[in-house]
Amino acid sequence: MIPPIANKFVAGETAESAVSHVESLNRDGVSGILNLLGEHYSDRRGADADAEAYVSLVRDVAAADIDGCISVKPSQIGIDASDGVFRENLDRIVEAASEEDIFVWVDMEDHTTTDVTLDAVCDLGHETDGNVGVCVQANLKRTPDDLERLASVPGKVRLVKGAYNEPASVAHKKKATVDEVYRELLEYMFAEFDDGVAVGSHDPAMLSYARELHDQYGTPYEVQMLMGVREDAQRELAAEGVDVWQYAPYGDKWFQYFYRRVRERKENALFALRAVVGV
Ligand code: FAD
Repeated sequence: MIPPIANKFVAGETAESAVSHVESLNRDGVSGILNLLGEHYSDRRGADADAEAYVSLVRDVAAADIDGCISVKPSQIGIDASDGVFRENLDRIVEAASEEDIFVWVDMEDHTTTDVTLDAVCDLGHETDGNVGVCVQANLKRTPDDLERLASVPGKVRLVKGAYNEPASVAHKKKATVDEVYRELLEYMFAEFDDGVAVGSHDPAMLSYARELHDQYGTPYEVQMLMGVREDAQRELAAEGVDVWQYAPYGDKWFQYFYRRVRERKENALFALRAVVGV
């Protein structure tokens, strides 16, 4: 069982609890992006099982008729086993999702996986006429070129700052530089992307810049934030008419994810401490 302190960041252990979390988000005008928490699988058994769980999740989301979609990590569906296993499993998930009209996001992991991930998403974007989206990271020096490639691919793109500790040979290391590049890339996306822009950030400065760009270019956009992070802002933006999506992880492998959220910010650590000591 997930202890109450982890419930802030994780939508339960089962698909059922995840779907019911999205139902409650929908009541506040926020849509849900469900991610089954998983791990790096170096053989295909675990990867195939998680891919099957995603197929089943897609059917649950469709049956519940909620405003929801899914987001999948390449390592969870076999990219460490082989590019072919990853591709087979992603194809399977996307096929089931397209049948049910459920959108599939593909998360981006470290830079060694970028090419394989983008190749798969570009193919599937064309095959499904845009039912697949991908995350790109502002900290990677290659991202301007990747966005140029993605501009002609049907589907949405989520811009994030980047969560992986990458070498300086491939990534900007200073936060100020990443922030500056994030703004430049956001402007490029608003100017060039027809299918809309997904702003994956909690940063108030980036969110208000996105709003300015939307007013300037008229390009549709959505804001994506994590469950448990700035949830008041999520609801407020939704009430103002912004298309807000909450990324909500779930599943029995919740501990590592919860621990990461608690470590990354003082406020989260204080929240956990308060829950433990009951103040
Ligand atoms: P930061 O630069 O960390 O912070 C800027 C400001 O935002 C802070 O000063 C504060 O005002 C506000 N803020 C940030 N965090 C909090 C908080 N916990 N509580 C209160 N205020 C806060 N990374 C990947 O590499 N690959 C992915 O596929 C990926 N997918 C993501 C999907 C979503 C929906 C989101 C939201 C993030 C994803 N990330 C992913 C993580 C991303 O790369 C960043 O590491 C993460 O979002 C932190 O950057 P930030 O832009 O939110 O703000």
